Order: sequence, then C-alpha cells, then structure tokens
Amino acid sequence: FFIAVEGGDGAGKSTQVEALAEWIRAKGHEVVVTREPGATPVGKRLRSILLDVSSAGLSHRAEALLYAADRAEHVDTVVRPALERGAVVVSDRYVDSSVAYQGAGRDLSPTEIARINRWATNGLVPHLTVLLDVSPEIARERFTEAPDRLESEPAEFHARVRSGFLTLAAAAPGRYLVVDAGQEAEAVTTVVRHRLDQLLP
Ligand code: C5P
Repeated sequence: FFIAVEGGDGAGKSTQVEALAEWIRAKGHEVVVTREPGATPVGKRLRSILLDVSSAGLSHRAEALLYAADRAEHVDTVVRPALERGAVVVSDRYVDSSVAYQGAGRDLSPTEIARINRWATNGLVPHLTVLLDVSPEIARERFTEAPDRLESEPAEFHARVRSGFLTLAAAAPGRYLVVDAGQEAEAVTTVVRHRLDQLLP
C-alpha cells in the first residue's frame, strides 16, 4: 500500500508522516518512511544541487528533469521493492509536488510535468495521497530554520503551488484526502487515521 503525503512548505508533512508511520506500524505492518527529493545516495546529491542557493538561476526544465531523475531512482530502488515485499510505503512528497512546484509554480505545463513523471515512475500511482492544505501565511510562520531556495520564493509562487495541489485533488477525489493543515497537528493526524482505518486492515 502506497501513501504519498503532499503539501506546500510549512504544511507539517514531516510531523504527519512520522505520526502516521508509527500508527501503521502499531497495526502490525512493515512501514517504509521515505521522502523526495533525496531518499537515495544519488538522490541526496540531486537534492543538494536542487536546494542550494547557488542553483538560483537553474533552468526550469533542467530543474523539472532533476526532480524526475531523483524520483525515478527512488521508485526503482526504494518504493517498488518495498511494495513488492508487502510493506506500506509512506512518502513525504511524490509526483504531485512536481506538478505543483515545477508546473503550477514555474512556467511549465502541469500536463507535461505529469507526463515526464509518468515515465519516470513507470506509472506508479499512490493508493492514497494526503494533501496537507495550508495558507501560505500560516506556512510561513512555521519556517523555523534558514529558508532554503524554494522557501525564499515570493508569496505568489507559493499561492500557485497551493492551487496546483488543490487542482490535482479535485480531479481525482477518490484518491485524495485533503486536510486543513492550519489546525493543530493532532487534529490533522486524527482525520488522516480515520480515513486510513477504512483502507488498511
Ligand atoms: O519537503 P522538503 O522540505 O524536503 O522539500 C525541499 C524543498 O524542495 C522545498 O523547499 C520544496 O518547496 C522544494 N521542492 C520543489 N519541487 C518538488 C519538491 C520539493 O520545489 N518537486
């Protein structure tokens, strides 16, 4: 069973991924917690290129392809092997992040970003995508550390990313759980557990 957790910067993804994994483990499943970008050795190198401030002028197409390369390596070496042995995989970000950031956020076509990622993942789609939806204003208050390259983007960029995610969720409501992530973390976890209780024995 494959769960992707998506959302803008400051939505609280890592907190929710941890809470979720612990709860699924307690049900007796093997859980693999993973993330994009940077879950594999090559992915870590791609992540540092992508997030370094010195990559500020990176071509948007090159950026999209580097994220897709990170994802291809991630799916081939981590996600598919785990799913094949019956584990539950919880990924902090997946394809939707690219459609939202490199597509809606930048000037690239979300449809084309989706297409290169279909190829990169060989068509692997999550069973459930949890979209943690939060206003850029609340999200910004949560940036505690020094902002990385993306967190320094203007508010309009983050607003486009947010609507990019919401558009994806609206197009396939059965596969998404959209949660108001402006709430307390525990309230968010409760909503997600409720949905997963129906999907996972
Ligand atoms: O989720 P995490 O903080 O690890 O993401 C690292 C950075 O990469 C974030 O600032 C996020 O906005 C950015 N990112 C992106 N496009 C993606 C995935 C992440 O711009 N497809």
